[in-house]
Amino acid sequence: MAVTEPRDSVIGIVGDGFGSLMVYATAVYLGFRPGQVTIFGPNESPIDTYQQSAYDLGQTVLRSESESHFLPADWPTFAELEAWSRKSLEPLTRSVSRKYNPPVRGVLTQATVVQRMLGWNENKMNTRVAWIQREAEPVPHFVLYDEDAKPIGRAKHVMLAMGHGPLSFPPVLANARSDPAMADRIVQAYQAKAYAPGGRYIVVGAGIAAVNEWVNALDAGASVISLLRSPEPDEQDLNAPRCLFEAYGIDAFAGLPFDERLAFLGKILKGTSPTRRGWAAKVGKGRAEGRFEHLMGEIDHVQSGIEGLQAHISRRDGTDLGSLDVSGIVAATGFQKSSLTIPILRRLVETYGIPVQAGRIVLETNCGIPGLDQPDSRLCVMGITANDVIPHGDTIAGLKYIARRFVADCVEAENLRQRPLFSRVRLQMSLARSASRAMAGLPRTEQLA
Ligand SMILES: Cc1cc2nc3c(=O)[nH]c(=O)nc-3n(C[C@H](O)[C@H](O)[C@H](O)COP(=O)(O)OP(=O)(O)OC[C@H]3O[C@@H](n4cnc5c(N)ncnc54)[C@H](O)[C@@H]3O)c2cc1C
Repeated sequence: MAVTEPRDSVIGIVGDGFGSLMVYATAVYLGFRPGQVTIFGPNESPIDTYQQSAYDLGQTVLRSESESHFLPADWPTFAELEAWSRKSLEPLTRSVSRKYNPPVRGVLTQATVVQRMLGWNENKMNTRVAWIQREAEPVPHFVLYDEDAKPIGRAKHVMLAMGHGPLSFPPVLANARSDPAMADRIVQAYQAKAYAPGGRYIVVGAGIAAVNEWVNALDAGASVISLLRSPEPDEQDLNAPRCLFEAYGIDAFAGLPFDERLAFLGKILKGTSPTRRGWAAKVGKGRAEGRFEHLMGEIDHVQSGIEGLQAHISRRDGTDLGSLDVSGIVAATGFQKSSLTIPILRRLVETYGIPVQAGRIVLETNCGIPGLDQPDSRLCVMGITANDVIPHGDTIAGLKYIARRFVADCVEAENLRQRPLFSRVRLQMSLARSASRAMAGLPRTEQLA
């Protein structure tokens, strides 16, 4: 049974995705009682939001590696868990050479086991939060309000884990989508779509989502024109260099002035794409068959055409590349990165005068919201909003890192008597055992690396 009445919590989590499960599981693991934590959000499960995007994108394995998983402690890693479930050494041998990517269905199964066993749903209120307000008396805390301005609970510490802002489209495509004749033919990589065999599609962008769409379209028997504004990015397996996944790298990054952090992120997150044998082979085959080509330029005009759409393309230097008739356009251009596109953050910025630079809240190095975050009553963000401080903040590993730092601060602020080591190990092992049992029944997923 979900929480239906407002209640007082030590930790309130606004948002009900992956991040919420990380914070919740870490809190229970360290010794908070489940009833001391409340999660707010509209979904039935912490995997719902990600699962929908992964399905629309056709993602089958995670880009991240074995340490990205939902058990509160790191060990066993996901490769070890899968090896144990399947009685196979393959996940381990792949993991040793950093060529193991957890299958999406396995990771989602594991997350669901953690969700159920730790009582995530029983401590969740099925409500979106519209507003949070700082109160000082009788002790520093926050009051949370729903979209009808009704108070729905109070919490001493709050984690804002609301995920991404809206999907982002280049302005020309955003305009064209307002025309009903074209709207269905211009979609985002993270939206549902179907490729027609024999059709021709422009895929805008050069990141991982774009690579995925090349392959999806080629697999369906369609042709692909990959459109890039700038030369292809350096080869990079995840969205941030691996050194930044370690605490040392994060501290070095967090120590840079905000301007430098932003410039650095702009460079490394611009559009990284992995080279995977499976994908490269499919694209190579598509190219040999005349079904795949690269073009450097931008769409500056789009209208209805004989195949569905006609897109005019030019280069930044003004070179006119002419018009292309295509069946559809896929924008693999990600999400809007500005904190101000997330209503609750925008309201906090406007009400409390929180500093913003280039559309991003200038977070404290512990991901706290300046002016509202204090050691005895923390207000923190995680996920994409936190990647000015934690470059991989929007990955499973990054979410875990932020969740651990935040919960550790709550433990200290509350002077919590922590769960004894033996009890932690027992909890971790029972979660691992149940996850392994559930994963054993899943069909195998092809590894792509
Ligand atoms: C297609 C795709 C593939 C990815 N692949 C990988 C990968 O391979 N490896 C990896 O490590 N990471 C990957 N990621 C990144 C990352 O793991 C996810 O983005 C992760 O889901 C982020 O978690 P989150 O909790 O910040 O946001 P989400 O999981 O998006 O959850 C946010 C939730 O908050 C809710 N919410 C929003 N506003 C409010 C509000 N006002 N009140 C209450 N609730 C609210 C939303 O309904 C949503 O459910 C991928 C992401 C996507 C989209």
